[in-house]
Amino acid sequence: MTKRNTVFLGLCKRAEHDIRLNRWNVLDLSPILPTHIFPMSLYGFYLAIAFPLDAASEASTLRIEYADGEELLKLDYKASIELNQSAKQQQETGTEGLIWQPWFARLDISTAVIKRPATFFVFQECNGEKKQIGTFEAVFIEPPHLTPERISAIQSDPGACKSARIVINCTVCRDEHKSYYGLERIPKLETEGWIWSPELDDSWKCGCGATEMPLVYLKMGFSSVLGRRQTSSANLSVEPLYKKSVLENIRYNFVELLEQSPREEEVQKFIKENTILLYTYSATKIIPKPSIGTKFKADFGILDTNNDLNLVEIERPGLRLLKQDGHRTSGLTHAFDQVGDWLNEIEIHRIAILEGMGLQNDHVNKIRGVVIAGRDSGHDAGHLRKLRMRPNDGFAFYTYDDLISTLDNLIQSIDDM
Ligand SMILES: [Zn+2]
Repeated sequence: MTKRNTVFLGLCKRAEHDIRLNRWNVLDLSPILPTHIFPMSLYGFYLAIAFPLDAASEASTLRIEYADGEELLKLDYKASIELNQSAKQQQETGTEGLIWQPWFARLDISTAVIKRPATFFVFQECNGEKKQIGTFEAVFIEPPHLTPERISAIQSDPGACKSARIVINCTVCRDEHKSYYGLERIPKLETEGWIWSPELDDSWKCGCGATEMPLVYLKMGFSSVLGRRQTSSANLSVEPLYKKSVLENIRYNFVELLEQSPREEEVQKFIKENTILLYTYSATKIIPKPSIGTKFKADFGILDTNNDLNLVEIERPGLRLLKQDGHRTSGLTHAFDQVGDWLNEIEIHRIAILEGMGLQNDHVNKIRGVVIAGRDSGHDAGHLRKLRMRPNDGFAFYTYDDLISTLDNLIQSIDDM
């Protein structure tokens, strides 16, 4: 019988072993590794292999190399699985069919840094023999451009950062290359030698010549680290956009504004400048005042992570919402009717309207209406609950107190961190 080889399956972000059932819970296992930025760190990733059971407990080495033979990383390992009694029994009774065992090794090698998009070759070295057991590919995905709509969405993200810095260094001569990016340029950093990433050269070579790093992917991809869906980049340090005190300050100013019975334009402006108030949408784009055909304009169009488009109507905080009997006032009914008109218009001219907002029809799933109006106080709590619970003709309704309390939850969660 020929001896079976170990096989490389790919990389993944998470792998947990359930010893009791000999089962792995795995997230995003793939031989393709997409990223918005290089240099990319593999720190914390898992390497997945399947080894033949008759090779269990053999000491081996995994080597990963670029096509030209340059080494990316080397990992000594012994693929053995600790099983409890019942899993062992299962394995023994099933030996006829059970030949392979999956296994995952966490990479805690901080020097495992991918410099550029490439195909990597994975080798196993065992008893002096080197065999290729698989490949994987690191692929560059250019992040969305930083348009004003994208910046508004980043600013609505509590986990966003206002600037980020990356240091590339040579382990031989200790020469270093420092670059940064942010929502705004920071002259002070530049006097300290940090280069604004759009102005980077195409590559960097250290003083001794041992380290050479392409910078084009850093130049194109640096903006991706500002938003929530961060890719793991090597030697990255970030300056968070929101500290607790900043959020408390926004809350204070927002409450202050609401107490003055402002017009809806003033509230729209405040939210536009403080999109963190819309953080629950996990927005990828926030469009102020999008046109809905020639007749209408919403206050905000929010494209969320599910690619649903939420069209928001802002009404006065002072708007009386419900009558004594719990029915909607004519003011609130008017707001709902208006949003209904938008949705009807979109039924008819969906493609053109989305294009007018800079969105592609096939990038948008559902389109939903949202009304934000009035305050809780002065209304019967039961009636308000019904208003929120009711399907409301297919759209969502919030009072300004709802916005404040979601902000409070956020402030609270930062407290707990
Ligand atoms: Zn060097």
